[in-house]
Amino acid sequence: MSRGTAAETGEEVVTATNVSRTYHLGDQPVHAIDDVSLSLDRGSFTAVMGPSGSGKSTLMNLLGCLDTPDEGEVVIDGREVSTLSDARRARLRGTEIGFIFQTFNLMPRLTAAENVTLPMVFNRGVDTGRRERAEQLLDRVGLGDRLDHRPNELSGGQRQRVAISRALVNEPSLVLADEPTGNLDTDTGGAIMALFEELNAEGRTILMVTHERHIAEYADRIVHLVDGKIEEIEDVEDVTPTGGDWV
Ligand code: ADP
Ligand code: MG
Repeated sequence: MSRGTAAETGEEVVTATNVSRTYHLGDQPVHAIDDVSLSLDRGSFTAVMGPSGSGKSTLMNLLGCLDTPDEGEVVIDGREVSTLSDARRARLRGTEIGFIFQTFNLMPRLTAAENVTLPMVFNRGVDTGRRERAEQLLDRVGLGDRLDHRPNELSGGQRQRVAISRALVNEPSLVLADEPTGNLDTDTGGAIMALFEELNAEGRTILMVTHERHIAEYADRIVHLVDGKIEEIEDVEDVTPTGGDWV
């Protein structure tokens, strides 16, 4: 199957070119993202840092096709996002991208295993083995004995592990995380970052939004956003990050 230029070169999972996103609230337009270009190479680990309101979440939503730009284009796995129908865009999102959020966004009435299998609705034809798949993923993040617990029966770190398992269930090429450690204490956050490093070592492409320097340093590079623009892209030296013992 031909998937277009990005997939053919195999180098870039997602490329945003001159993207802008403006919100209109009242009479003052807010240029949340203003003419930004950014590519994520396959297997890379990128952090996005910036003050509150600098456009970090907006940028992540554009790269993850949760939102479309007003100007510019976003190409994911060779497909230009704005040319896709809503249904195709939802399918692309569901199969190629895994999302992880600060507040975990688990379904409260579903068990850990049920939460993990939920996105498999996008994988038509895969009816058998769903429970086993959830078990494997949860086992891997140390929750093999919590399969039938509901979110309110789990700690914050455990909830985030369920969310990470859910993000991986369809084998996405890209993992996007918005402040994944924002609601966790330092040790738990460090453990979650150790997991991200493992996923990246397996070749997964990761983009992570954070406002914490020591968390950003787990990435290979840090994109600094200010007022909706990229101020600097900083390479991170390959040293053990400071702060955040992992457990
Ligand atoms: P960050 O994640 O860096 O805190 P956001 O991307 O959430 O920043 O927001 C960037 C700017 O866009 C902020 O000024 C914010 O108030 C504005 N904004 C974000 N989402 C909306 C929205 N849905 N409607 C109007 N303004 C928004
Ligand atoms: Mg945000």
